[in-house]
Amino acid sequence: MLSQWLKDSNYTVVLTGAGMSTESGLPDFRSSNNGLWTKEDPSKIASTEALNQNVEMFFEFYRYRVLGLNEAHPHKGHEILAKWEKAGLIKSIITQNIDGFHSEAGSENVIELHGTMKKVHCQTCGKEYGNEKYAKEEFICECGGTLRPSVVLFGEMLPEDALMKAAEESEKADLFIVLGSSLTVSPANQFPLIAKQNGAKFVIINMEPTELDMFADLVVNERKIGEVLKELDK
Ligand code: NAD
Repeated sequence: MLSQWLKDSNYTVVLTGAGMSTESGLPDFRSSNNGLWTKEDPSKIASTEALNQNVEMFFEFYRYRVLGLNEAHPHKGHEILAKWEKAGLIKSIITQNIDGFHSEAGSENVIELHGTMKKVHCQTCGKEYGNEKYAKEEFICECGGTLRPSVVLFGEMLPEDALMKAAEESEKADLFIVLGSSLTVSPANQFPLIAKQNGAKFVIINMEPTELDMFADLVVNERKIGEVLKELDK
């Protein structure tokens, strides 16, 4: 059914969450068994509060995440999405992920709602560096300012240009596919509803049920995204 919908659609938009990257070895946030935040309280560490008041803990937490990210790579599912974009089967990807894997796999029209952990930048002068600065425990800019990952922290607003672009894409969609998101975090979980209100078919491919399942035209649970995408790609 989904395979036919993909072929018939003129404007397919994909929204990805942390579940897109677990098959690359990166833990997600809320899975009951292995989620990142089942061990840590995000609002205490991945936050402006920690950056300002507990910077050593902040550096250590993000250094550890950067090291993990730099050892991981996009998987076949990311590659299939990039291939589908080139073939005109999908128009854009809205992602909550900060791993940069969609671009690394070759997708071009990627909207990163939460920024990227591939880069760090100076709090003071704004200069950007690759994340290897953090890997090498270099946390200070040449101007003397503090380097921070270029991600959206708890306590910060999402980038307005990304939000606007994501809303525009969602309005244009006639097929909207969610891959690996618990759809618990706003405003990302509003985009499928915008698409649905504008007449799109709405599909959720996620290991566990989500709060928006009742609005979806098709829900696929208990299946790995990589497997589902490979099957659709045949
Ligand atoms: P999530 O962890 O809430 O949900 C991931 C979902 O993916 C889960 O429901 C899980 O069942 C599913 N899943 C996992 N592996 C899968 C697989 N192989 N195949 C199919 N499904 C799979 O992630 P989310 O929805 O992206 O969370 C929302 C966002 O909140 C995150 O992306 C993150 O950006 C943000 N967040 C950020 C921070 C931070 O550090 N700033 C902290 C917490 C949350």
